[in-house]
Amino acid sequence: MTMRRVVIIGGGFGGAFTAKYLNRYAPRDWEIELINSTNYFVFQPLLPEVASGTISAPDAVTPLRLMLPGVKVRMAEVIGVNRAENEVHYLQGSKRIPLSVKYDDLVLAVGQQTNLSHTPGFQEHSLCMRNLADAHQLRNHVIQCLEHADVTEDPELKSRLMTFVVAGGGFSGVETAGELVEMIHRTLKFYPNLQSEDIHTVLVQRGERILPELTLRLGEYARQKLSKRGIQIMLDTSIQSATSTAVYLDDGTGIQTQTLVTTVGNGPRPITESLGIELQNGKIPVDEFLQVIGNERVWSLGDAALIPLGHQNCSQTKYAPPTAQFAVQEARCLARNIIAAQQDKPLTMFSFKPKGSLASIGNYKAVAEVFGIRLSGLLAWLLWRGLYIGMLPGFSTRLRVALNWLFDYFLPRSIVQIANNERPATYYRRYAPGDVVFRPGQLVDGFYTIVSGYLESRIADSAAGEDFVRLLGPGDHWGERSLSGNFETQGLLTAVEETRVLILKQADFRNLRAAFPGLDEYFQRISEKIYAPSLRSGSNSARNSESRGIQR
Ligand SMILES: Cc1cc2nc3c(=O)[nH]c(=O)nc-3n(C[C@H](O)[C@H](O)[C@H](O)COP(=O)(O)OP(=O)(O)OC[C@H]3O[C@@H](n4cnc5c(N)ncnc54)[C@H](O)[C@@H]3O)c2cc1C
Repeated sequence: MTMRRVVIIGGGFGGAFTAKYLNRYAPRDWEIELINSTNYFVFQPLLPEVASGTISAPDAVTPLRLMLPGVKVRMAEVIGVNRAENEVHYLQGSKRIPLSVKYDDLVLAVGQQTNLSHTPGFQEHSLCMRNLADAHQLRNHVIQCLEHADVTEDPELKSRLMTFVVAGGGFSGVETAGELVEMIHRTLKFYPNLQSEDIHTVLVQRGERILPELTLRLGEYARQKLSKRGIQIMLDTSIQSATSTAVYLDDGTGIQTQTLVTTVGNGPRPITESLGIELQNGKIPVDEFLQVIGNERVWSLGDAALIPLGHQNCSQTKYAPPTAQFAVQEARCLARNIIAAQQDKPLTMFSFKPKGSLASIGNYKAVAEVFGIRLSGLLAWLLWRGLYIGMLPGFSTRLRVALNWLFDYFLPRSIVQIANNERPATYYRRYAPGDVVFRPGQLVDGFYTIVSGYLESRIADSAAGEDFVRLLGPGDHWGERSLSGNFETQGLLTAVEETRVLILKQADFRNLRAAFPGLDEYFQRISEKIYAPSLRSGSNSARNSESRGIQR
């Protein structure tokens, strides 16, 4: 058998477990490379507990290198796949250098993202619950609300601050609402002016039941338990719009609130949309062997894939639900099929019948149905915790999470609001003489304005037969042409002397430019004044990307 390289994009449940099983069962000379945008695996079902402060953020994640010894782990952002050339293109490091890797088999396990663009006001005013940063942000926001509500003398403001709306009655919505309520109740003792009657938590669900991932009976059971805990559940209701102080429902009523958590509106990630594969319901269609339809040796699983469930008797096709339980089983089947395909052996059809389903609803309570037996309360919660402890990757992670739970049971919750360390939209960088700021072919990360010192920009101009050289001094700027189209840099940018630059982040620069048409005109004028026609509008770099055939 020949050496093969399997490249897996995504280090969540689908990707990380595929890598784990391949590493265990594939021939020793296979190279398994996993590319993920972070260097850790996130145990998403624990995120609501991170938001509520039950467990600390680093304990809900496991370093991929620790979890996957023997697998080549690459922290990078994949920007495209050239299926004709069997190449994955990615940006590496803080300089976002575009590089590529060849594959024999490709696994697409990129999950989904929350798409907030469908409902007016969601992008501006809602919080999400998908990764560690989201959980951290929600926690800080809720503590901020409690701090403010405790001291304000404005009753309307107090009521708004103490009203929490969660959009979506799936796993993440239900668990987030449950954990939020528990966190607030357990911290009330620190806020003498807040009473439990002041708390108003609303779970808004578009469908006629919550927890559609679970059985009907269990969903109804959870609804009753959550209602008893004071959570108002609005079924068959959707949010039409949101502002900074209210959400408006489809029946025209409004809820005054400063907190909207959105767990609905899952959609494909940009990388999924860029693949050139015709998506169905925003997902990558695969066959029952998890092979992307019409793409031999390209596989997909987890939330990103639309997976028909094998061995069905009914006429309507059923698809695998987007759950961690399913993703892990899909990973097992997929790893087996990659190996079988190489050995010309028959592939295994994916099928999985979960032995049970569980959801935590906070306050040491969960709902569960295991082997047809329905459980709720502390027993179900203990079962839930036991199962998750077993599913957590690595002994050290298990021990840390178990200790977190134990301490949380006996000790008061922390109400420390740790400041968000995210950089502001602009920041400074300093370069010494001779430092290379950008090389040709890199992607620009922001809009650079020179504060002091000088940078030299050198672009090869084949039409003129010599390099085009420009000196940029205080007040000059650089990067606007590449940023306008996500093109690669054309020239070499180096520091001539000690130089300080102010950088406006890429996304912020684009937002500003879109909202302020005068800027576009200004940059157009500057470009025409400075550059010869052959060097304008990033045309070389656009050709660069095209010639490499990246499907972005
Ligand atoms: C709050 C919450 C609670 C949940 N609770 C439960 C539960 O109780 N039980 C249950 O079974 N399921 C639960 N789920 C669902 C479960 O977590 C998901 O079904 C599961 O995580 C899907 O795994 P995945 O590998 O498909 O995607 P993900 O886990 O989302 O992983 C995708 C990975 O791909 C990476 N990636 C994406 N794009 C790129 C790119 N361009 N370049 C590099 N890397 C990229 C991402 O960084 C990420 O690491 C919950 C989900 C959430 C959000």
